[in-house]
Amino acid sequence: MKAIGHWVGGRAVVGTSGRSAPVFDPALGVRTGAVALASASEVGDVVKVAVDASVEWGGSPSSRRAGMMFRLRELLDVHRGELAALVTSEHGKVRDDALGEVARGLECVEFACGIPHLLKGAHSSEVSRGVDVHTLLEPVGVAAGITPFNFPVMVPLWMLANALACGNAFILKPSEKDPSASLLLAELVQRAGFPDGVFNVVQGDAEAVDALLTNPQIDAVSFVGSTAVARHVYESGTARGKRVQALGGAKNHMVVLPDADIDAAADAAISAAYGSAGERCMAISVVVAVGPVADPLIDAIATRIPDVIVGPGDQPASMMGPLITAEHRDRVRSYVERAPGEGARVVVDGSAAVKGDGFFVGCSLIDGVEPGMRVYDDEIFGPVLSVVRVASLDEALSLLNANPYGNGVALFTRDGGAARRFEREVRVGMVGINVAIPVPVASHSFGGWKASLFGDTAMYGPEGIRFYTRPKVVTSRWPETASSVIDLGFPSST
Ligand code: NAD
Repeated sequence: MKAIGHWVGGRAVVGTSGRSAPVFDPALGVRTGAVALASASEVGDVVKVAVDASVEWGGSPSSRRAGMMFRLRELLDVHRGELAALVTSEHGKVRDDALGEVARGLECVEFACGIPHLLKGAHSSEVSRGVDVHTLLEPVGVAAGITPFNFPVMVPLWMLANALACGNAFILKPSEKDPSASLLLAELVQRAGFPDGVFNVVQGDAEAVDALLTNPQIDAVSFVGSTAVARHVYESGTARGKRVQALGGAKNHMVVLPDADIDAAADAAISAAYGSAGERCMAISVVVAVGPVADPLIDAIATRIPDVIVGPGDQPASMMGPLITAEHRDRVRSYVERAPGEGARVVVDGSAAVKGDGFFVGCSLIDGVEPGMRVYDDEIFGPVLSVVRVASLDEALSLLNANPYGNGVALFTRDGGAARRFEREVRVGMVGINVAIPVPVASHSFGGWKASLFGDTAMYGPEGIRFYTRPKVVTSRWPETASSVIDLGFPSST
């Protein structure tokens, strides 16, 4: 049984709280380890280490930090396979998907390699006689990152790359469900040359999170997880004067117009709904079929479902792995069971598709879904695709804009005018036009609207740099001493 502890001050540290949580291999349904759950006092000790390290790190040359980021990039590249294997062993996702997550995280490190360029402040010369103004972008100090189970490598890299490059110390609190990848990340950060204490990992649950949120020496908190916890993190952190970005849950729709290529739309729906067993915040969970497209589209999706091979993530033939826990598997099944009673029609029931002790469910497809049904209203976070039938693009937009979430959305069409109208009128943060999972590349930023993001700044890219820096505006004058006079008037710019 593997014992999974913390990483503090540049080395692995065993937990002392006496509390731990079980870690499973979801494909086998067996317990493989125990992760330490930090107490509030252990979190306090980690924060002190990070505060001490942040002082010198924050004043270090950006070229030095960029050099380390380049080395981290190389190490991540070399250890892609190892990271992906850890993800598969504790999360369950198939190997290609795990490698994809590592690749998307690595791109955020590549973005942060350009930190000297990214930290160039603005300069205005001669704004008044002999007066210049420039902006400094300084680190915020110590930032904490609290991450979900579904991307144990990518989401930490969304945060830590920019946080460290900007000169902050960073404390990662990974999901307790798949914590091992965080320790390999820590080892690679260490080998890249980052000073001890600049990057720390504290394992834990709500107790550790609350200890971070209430610690006055934590300056900024990045959170990714479910909406209820995101709201709590945002309210608790901002009430204490911290800067907080808290990304929450999602219910992503894919609108298919009658002129769309049905086969392309069906392939995209299958990939986006069932990839990673639906445990992606950008997964498509609702197809909105406009007008006559519904019947042929549902047929095309249903006939493809048997092609999705469900099995252990480490087997090359598997296309979809298990869910994260037995409780989550049972919860996902309950939505399919309940759907007919809510008035929907189960076209494909994947609930019992896979036997064995692993936490598997197959792909389900449900037609005739409407707002007000649990299967529509809740974020299921599993391989269950609902179909809502609407008569027009107007009706589709009304449905989308009434949804409390606003993470991702997709439109499938050949009509450029409809696509342009859609992208302008939809109240969602990330929009795909004939792209089912529009996760922005690392040079843009990731973030939803409404209950999918609390705070003003999205994650990674330029918004990430803004989140992890504090601007300071310097107005300076270098007059000849002989020219100075007393003037009590308000400073003017002429
Ligand atoms: P979660 O909210 O249960 O956990 C996220 C983190 O919060 C974990 O580190 C966990 O230990 C901690 N946590 C859990 N309960 C807490 C509490 N009561 N108080 C304080 N901290 C607590 O989420 P999850 O199940 O790990 O991840 C799945 C969720 O994350 C889904 O809702 C998904 O949509 C969302 N997600 C969103 C994005 C996004 O970018 N918007 C990305 C990935 C995942």
